[in-house]
Amino acid sequence: MEKIFKAKNPEDITNIKGYTIKYGYIMDNGKIIDEVLVSYFKSPKSYTTEDMCEINSHGGNVIMRNILELCLENGAELAEPGEFTKRAFLNGRIDLSQAESVIDIINAKTDREVKEGVKQLEGYLKKSIKDIKNHVLDLMTNIEVSIDYPEYDTPEILEDDLRNKMEIILSKLKSLEKSFDNGKIIKEGIKTAIVGRPNAGKSSLLNAILKEERAIVTEYEGTTRDTIEEFVSINGIPLKLIDTAGIRDTKNEIEKIGIEKSRKMAKEADLVILIIDSSKELTKEDYEILNIVNPKKTIVILNKMDLETKVNEKTEGISDFKNVIKISALKQKGIDSLYEKISELFNLNEINLENETIITNERHKNLIKKAITNLNKAKESLNKNMPIDIIAISLKDMLSNLGEITGEEASEEIINEIFSRFCLGK
Ligand code: GDP
Repeated sequence: MEKIFKAKNPEDITNIKGYTIKYGYIMDNGKIIDEVLVSYFKSPKSYTTEDMCEINSHGGNVIMRNILELCLENGAELAEPGEFTKRAFLNGRIDLSQAESVIDIINAKTDREVKEGVKQLEGYLKKSIKDIKNHVLDLMTNIEVSIDYPEYDTPEILEDDLRNKMEIILSKLKSLEKSFDNGKIIKEGIKTAIVGRPNAGKSSLLNAILKEERAIVTEYEGTTRDTIEEFVSINGIPLKLIDTAGIRDTKNEIEKIGIEKSRKMAKEADLVILIIDSSKELTKEDYEILNIVNPKKTIVILNKMDLETKVNEKTEGISDFKNVIKISALKQKGIDSLYEKISELFNLNEINLENETIITNERHKNLIKKAITNLNKAKESLNKNMPIDIIAISLKDMLSNLGEITGEEASEEIINEIFSRFCLGK
């Protein structure tokens, strides 16, 4: 750095304290390139734990390129994608799960996702895994003691003790595994299709949902070109509404959602909200739509309950559905019962979003699954009275599954694969 930077108040680089900023000039053979600020981070207190500095220039493509070239001429090297985070991991400042959370934060589409990423970066998952590992190590100590000093405990006491300890570990692993489904909901939202024949009240319901004070709405382009997907989060219920553009534009008759489109939307969705105008007898179109949806993931809404009703839960065609609620979209009555129903269907009340460690990464989930398989193997060996070293082998395999999550046991190949997913030099 001293080769290209001339500070206004020069100081020997070894004397500069970490976390300080120096004002001066980037120089090339005595010529000023730009007026800059240089931030110093001294080892070990830096992102990678190495000595680092950041140059704050006036920016602009030409100046940036000139400074970059000057750095390269003087011995600097360009960072590979993810190189800084990789160094932070290799130098032991963060574990692999934390490094992966940096990618998740960069790629996040919603606030909720960022929040989960930040929690993981803080080390929530790392702590949970460490806690489980400690339990396993405790279990292995018991086993080793019994191998070395067989007279120490009677086999029955030892067996009961091992069994209890294994159950505790298993329940911890299972709750992590289950949290993946919750994590997926947070990450991707519940893909929701609102279907129903024209005039049933789809756009009125949509407006009622979007008008909710507690609704946070993010619009982004859908997967197919001219569709719009909206991510609505109400009371922590994350809904990703499929193609609401067609519903909103009610004046345009051509835009009305036909039966084929409803079928496609319903198939794609995790949740179907099917709206029926309960002030009229069911029509052929209603029956058609009732027939194409899967009752398990459908909530039937009997709308217009402020009017005299001709349809109820027992009406033929609707009686096959377990989840039926009555609302008035126009008067905004009963909308809460819709949210309650959704919470119930997706076990959202069980998700403690603030404190629970939530797995959002497929790789972590697969490793937790493998750990559960190995633990079950150990349990089985114990039940079959197999030699205790066989049990120890399964437990060791399980420890290495957990080690792959945090990175102590991950192969170089896996580590390289993970860091190649960074698209920038962060
Ligand atoms: P869509 O074609 O399914 O989107 O239906 P709309 O939301 O446009 O509603 C069709 C008509 O029904 C409009 O005139 C709405 O004002 C009316 N409507 C919708 N929901 C209710 C309701 O709960 N009660 C009453 N009385 N009218 C409603």
